[in-house]
Amino acid sequence: MERSEALRRITELKAVLRENSRRYYVDNAPTISDYEYDTLMHELEALEDQWPEFATPDSPTRHVGSDLDLPAGQNAEPETGHGFRQYPHRYPMLSLQNTYSVAEIEEFAERASGLLEGRDFSYATELKFDGTAICLTYRDGKLFRALTRGDGTVGDDVTLNVKRIANIPETLSGSGWPAEFEIRGEILMPYASFDRLNLERAESELPPFANPRNAASGSLKLQDPEEVGRRGLECTLYHIPSEIPGIATHNEALDAAASWGLPISKHRGICRDIAEIEAYLRHWDTARHDLPFATDGIVVKINQLDFQKELGYTAKFPRWAVAFKFKAEQALTPILSIDYQVGRTGAVTPVANLEPVHLAGTTVKRATLNNQAFIEDLDIHLGDWVYVEKGGEIIPKITAVEPSKRAIGATRPPFPTTCPDCGTPLVRPEGEARWFCPNKDGCPTQIQTGLVHFLSRKAMNVIAGDATVAELYRLGLVRTPADFYSLSLPQLLLIEGWQMRSAQRFLSSLDASREVPFERVLFALGIRHIGEQTAREIARHFGDIDSIAKASLEELAAVQDVGDIIAKSVVEWFADERHIREIERLKAAGLQFSTEVTSAPQSDALQGMIFVVSGVFSVSRDEIKAFIEASGGKCSGSVSGKTTYLLAGDKPGPEKVKKAAELGVKVIGEEELRAMAGEISRQDIAPVIPTKAAGRAEKSLNNDIIEPTLF
Ligand code: NAD
Repeated sequence: MERSEALRRITELKAVLRENSRRYYVDNAPTISDYEYDTLMHELEALEDQWPEFATPDSPTRHVGSDLDLPAGQNAEPETGHGFRQYPHRYPMLSLQNTYSVAEIEEFAERASGLLEGRDFSYATELKFDGTAICLTYRDGKLFRALTRGDGTVGDDVTLNVKRIANIPETLSGSGWPAEFEIRGEILMPYASFDRLNLERAESELPPFANPRNAASGSLKLQDPEEVGRRGLECTLYHIPSEIPGIATHNEALDAAASWGLPISKHRGICRDIAEIEAYLRHWDTARHDLPFATDGIVVKINQLDFQKELGYTAKFPRWAVAFKFKAEQALTPILSIDYQVGRTGAVTPVANLEPVHLAGTTVKRATLNNQAFIEDLDIHLGDWVYVEKGGEIIPKITAVEPSKRAIGATRPPFPTTCPDCGTPLVRPEGEARWFCPNKDGCPTQIQTGLVHFLSRKAMNVIAGDATVAELYRLGLVRTPADFYSLSLPQLLLIEGWQMRSAQRFLSSLDASREVPFERVLFALGIRHIGEQTAREIARHFGDIDSIAKASLEELAAVQDVGDIIAKSVVEWFADERHIREIERLKAAGLQFSTEVTSAPQSDALQGMIFVVSGVFSVSRDEIKAFIEASGGKCSGSVSGKTTYLLAGDKPGPEKVKKAAELGVKVIGEEELRAMAGEISRQDIAPVIPTKAAGRAEKSLNNDIIEPTLF
């Protein structure tokens, strides 16, 4: 690999890993499997070894992923409803070196033997509990403080929540505990609590937690200790970092902690050599499926505390421990039937109904078959047995067919030629892998999914689940988005299951949506190919809906980010009389259909320059864009040949960085921008969004501050 290519890949990997780390630790909503994440991390480690000059101190290879709710150093009182007080850890809370290969565990054992030069030692082997790390401090036998791992140096104070976890004693029993000591472990959500919680969430039309780990860490960070108490969390403790007089091994320390009433796992082992470690791994590889909680591996630790001290730590791991991680769980199960589902865009997706199978803590009944090409590539036949994988992630994937189990005479599933919902003949546009139902305004499923999209968080942000929309549609009360705004309280109260509280909540949420800024209203309309970013660009460019409706193909295509396909889609949408009538009704309902134009440029320092803004800055991205515009520059959503600069803040979008490198677009930072623009102070920056809606928009932009990653 060439030097420039190595730098590009390292930059890209860092950005992708940071983004996924945030999704995993802060949002509790990972979108890639642990295996994929670890593979990317190992690739970055290898590249940094090869090109040490690119291994910057802020690299994810040198830091543990942070679970802090607010940036380190920024304290918040729980009463404010956001964030936790932070406290420093007395000893850093690190991660574990991990591997998926037994050979690397052997290497670890050989290395440890080598370093300990033939001295007698043993390995303590334990389950790797799949929850969220916790550090408890006991002072004079009483629980004094509970901190999350945070960024390894400071943690969030979750003491009030931890006090609601039934198996954590507030007062120690027995005797011999030090006056003050720390003990570390994991907060877990057992499968039984997890299933119950997800059932309750489904009943309340809330999205389910992906897995017990996410549910545990999400619950631990609630601002409502009562609710934490109801979640059925448990704790298991596995490490005392401080020295305890008279205790020489890790195992003795845990035995002592158990005698003080602390929750210590009974599934611990002591191994003398690699053969015993391998037997322990083999045993738990299958036996773990019978445990009432999730485990994602085995931890092997040098048992002697003196030797642990001697081996020490890297910046990220102890050198005296290693984790063997189990690969994504796999299950083999037959396809019972295939459904063909119509989505909002009319795309028809085949979904396999599977013989229910238990996998990584949940029962899997369905898995997507994506499109016709996927079925052909895996050579799936009706009734085939398929391998399903789920590696700590939300969506189970079909990875292969087991050909030995295929019934004689089994045939490939025929792909439907008409829409399974409305019977319209399907079309497959050129270059598309998927088939589409073209009956956009008449197909019931497309209408309902369009209504769900309209209300969704990033669009109108109205609190309503899919079931609510389906019910309102079934009763004929809502056919188009404007119908929502004609609903009345007496009408809703007549519907079975609607209570005064839920009806009022729904109506006031609709009322609040009248303040949603124009760019999001445009996104909510569900015009094909108009995502959030494109809607923003178009809304800013034209300023109001009437100008967009009148715009020609050429005028639309001149907007940054809008190519011929998008321009055509917009023109076709506005050519439909029904859509014009709908816009009139939505206008009458009071929705925002224009942006409040920003003040005229105050300087021409950036005249003729086009900026793409990506990442996190000292002020919000909207303020940065307003600053550029006030200085005579223009902003665009994606990097192209027309871009003058990529303005990169902290954690810029990796795709944008990659594209800028490819096209030779110069990347600059906020300081450089301000220097180029001259001294326009922050106070001069005009708000770009209507003031009434500013709070709401700011919140949504913050949620959305990181650009999409490579995935
Ligand atoms: P880790 O989960 O691989 O291992 C370290 C942690 O294991 C410790 O902090 C501790 O909390 C826990 N642990 C459980 N049982 C233990 C025991 N008996 N002894 C000691 N520690 C024990 O490391 P991590 O730093 O918490 O997380 C990194 C891992 O998280 C990655 O390797 C990856 O698999 C996963 N991750 C996934 C994504 C994703 O997008 N899927 C993103 C970020 C991180």
